Amino acid sequence: MASACSIRVRGVVQGVGFRPFVYRLARANTLGGWVLNGQEGVEIYLEGAEQGLQAFVREMKTQPPPAANIADIDVQQVTPLGVNEFTIRDSGQADRPTVRISPDLPVCDDCLEELFDPSNPRYGYPYINCTNCGPRYTVVLRLPYDRVNTTMRDWPLDDYCAGEFSDGGNRRFHAQPVACAACGPSYYLQPQERTFPGTEGAVHHASQLLNAGKILAVKGLGGYHLACDGRNPAAVAALRERKYRKEKPFAVMARDLDEAHRLVELSLDSAALLTSSARPIVLAPARVDLIGVAPQNNELGVMLPYTPLHHLLFAAGAPQALVMTSANRSNEPIAYADQDALSRLSGIADAFLIGQRPIARRVDDSVVRDGVFGPVILRRARGYAPGAVAKLPCERPILALGADLKNTVTLVVDGQAFVSQHIGDLEHYEAFCAFQETISDLVSMYEVDWHELLVAHDGHPQYASVLHASELKVSRRLAVQHHRAHVASVLAERGEWEKRVVGVSFDGTGYGDDGSIWGGEIFVGSVQEGFERAAHLRNAALPGGDGAAQCPVQAAAGFLAQLDALPDMTAAPFNFPERFGNALELVTKGVRTFSTSSMGRLFDTVAALLGFTREVSFEGQAAMWVEQLARATSIHETYAFPFSGAELDFRPLLQSVLIDRRHGRNPGEIARAFQRGVAAGLRDSVVNLCQAYALDTIVLSGGVFQNELLLEDIEALLEAEAISVWTNHAVPPNDGGISLGQAALAAFATPRWTDGRSHA
Ligand code: ZN
Ligand code: FE
Repeated sequence: MASACSIRVRGVVQGVGFRPFVYRLARANTLGGWVLNGQEGVEIYLEGAEQGLQAFVREMKTQPPPAANIADIDVQQVTPLGVNEFTIRDSGQADRPTVRISPDLPVCDDCLEELFDPSNPRYGYPYINCTNCGPRYTVVLRLPYDRVNTTMRDWPLDDYCAGEFSDGGNRRFHAQPVACAACGPSYYLQPQERTFPGTEGAVHHASQLLNAGKILAVKGLGGYHLACDGRNPAAVAALRERKYRKEKPFAVMARDLDEAHRLVELSLDSAALLTSSARPIVLAPARVDLIGVAPQNNELGVMLPYTPLHHLLFAAGAPQALVMTSANRSNEPIAYADQDALSRLSGIADAFLIGQRPIARRVDDSVVRDGVFGPVILRRARGYAPGAVAKLPCERPILALGADLKNTVTLVVDGQAFVSQHIGDLEHYEAFCAFQETISDLVSMYEVDWHELLVAHDGHPQYASVLHASELKVSRRLAVQHHRAHVASVLAERGEWEKRVVGVSFDGTGYGDDGSIWGGEIFVGSVQEGFERAAHLRNAALPGGDGAAQCPVQAAAGFLAQLDALPDMTAAPFNFPERFGNALELVTKGVRTFSTSSMGRLFDTVAALLGFTREVSFEGQAAMWVEQLARATSIHETYAFPFSGAELDFRPLLQSVLIDRRHGRNPGEIARAFQRGVAAGLRDSVVNLCQAYALDTIVLSGGVFQNELLLEDIEALLEAEAISVWTNHAVPPNDGGISLGQAALAAFATPRWTDGRSHA
């Protein structure tokens, strides 16, 4: 007597070899029926002996394909239809595609073996892939994930590939981007004067150019990289010069794990991150000094090859450590379209290694670190996006627009929060265009009706994202205060909606409830009830407002103005430039001066006092500089940073810095005592608030918490306290995590929605 059931599987189940897996499993258990990619996941109909059906469901749960991630399985008994054969059916068209798109995957070991096997038809083929590996998000044009909906649609399969594609026993059964040298796209090299067609010659010449110290634009998965030999200081210097990138660290692609071990100190967890399927850039302590790659930085960002082309380049003799940086001029988004890359990078790259397969959307490399409180993502893009990071208890779709710096957007559909890849700083026109593209990409991908959308955005009236929100034709809008969004992002990752916590939000800048520039905020509350500001850094004046972030000396003027008997700051050892005096004058006269509680600007002030008197060349540079300085010493002193009356008073702290500096003390020791002072001040305030409100958990978020030394100190200082510390893991603690926090607070603020005027 035959039984039958219909099964619906949700999660990351499309584009990861799920249908071929189901096909093989059904055949192995002599079951009839079919499988198809539906809009809500994979749909399966099975018919056969009861025992076979049970074995099928068991194995599907326990041994799914390696890249799949099953969220839930729904099994319904149905009446048998009398089907004996098992088939893979074409995708049906259902209501809304809440199926998850898989992030891109690195080339797998089986494909690598074939890539370097001269007897294999795909020997040396740069686009080799199978159901376990290869491009996904960067080739999908629309759902469902079928070849006609990918950027491979212009390359029809030849007989060889078609045979594998339709063979249920093959690793490439229904691998949508499958191709070979005979039927698929290839790579070519384009120097100014002539073109080297065909992958083999192109890769060979490209590696020669790299060895000769040239700069190469290399098309990858989610955009172009600029590559050069990391051990060639002249090449690295030329890249900095041409890219207008003065000091911001470059990442390096190591030929293999051995080379990575030579470059950086890898903990077990760092190595696991490095070889994980996201293949991110991993920040770790540098073991060698690659001149110019990460100037004045003890850390180096390292990644491993992830596309077949990268492996081919190294096999062809390219340098073992390649600087691989997003192809753009300073701060622009990564170039991903060929014509755009050729024109934008013409003055930068000596040659272009161009692949013919188009890139559906730009996706940068992700950046992670094995931190004090576990792995932390500092830039979330390739390998992670567009994975869902949280499940929110809300039915209506929400679009959260994030912050203007390090922008990401989050779309919530059927409660699933999909966080976009890193987009960039919206003050740049190109990044703003990318922001708009990403929004329409996500909204159309998931077929969300604009009129249904609730839009959450920052509270800053001048943010480009906020102005954009007001132009969207949506039903409701909600402003979410920046620092509350930071705290909520941590709780959203953990699905903690009712948990009351002390939420610490330390960063450079964000628009506060009172219109001043916040950034040293401590809240009490939960996502559900909202967050009340319970304490903050003592206010200081900020001449020039957000613009002061460019120049530590300018930020210092407002903070130092509150000290008694300020010495002549233009004299040694401070040697402040004239700009300081001008800024101080603005402060005393109250002209073009704002009020701030920004912890980031406090770090800037100390950087200036310790010798960082020039402008910063990238966001957060001065604070990073202080951390690096502090790491160079191991003294155990702590400057006083008293907490009283809901305020952290920076005056004693700065006074200590000033005095010790004038006494000629080593700046590293001063930086160390300052950093520990900040940690101790934080400890005192959270212990105090936990007691006052009877709470046992604190949340740390905001860009300041990218400072690992600060986290180390906080962990050590809180060891004796019965307080749990929660930090970000799935989204960045910097403004890249803001969109998730906005979405979470918006989901619970529903009764308070109004047309553009409410605040969460
Ligand atoms: Zn593979
Ligand atoms: Fe922030």
